[in-house]
Amino acid sequence: MTAGIDTPEGERKVPDDELARLERRYRELKKRLQSLGFAVAGTITERYTVCGKASCRCHADPPQRHGPYYQYSRKVAGNGFPLVTWRRP
Ligand SMILES: [Zn+2]
Repeated sequence: MTAGIDTPEGERKVPDDELARLERRYRELKKRLQSLGFAVAGTITERYTVCGKASCRCHADPPQRHGPYYQYSRKVAGNGFPLVTWRRP
């Protein structure tokens, strides 16, 4: 196997210069992926919520709050803003 690129029999042949270009691109991307470590880290928050209905069980004593809801926040490297946030019951 050469250069980590699988070319099944019958597929077009990759010219040497293009192969070299792809290899460079592969190494570049691999380097970028390795430096991403922190960026792919995220935070999952478990939340229990109270709704607006006064008669709801979440206002009872003891309260049975709604949830858990999970919120996943992912940060972009060097920037503190959550990039992706969603909730699901
Ligand atoms: Zn409620």
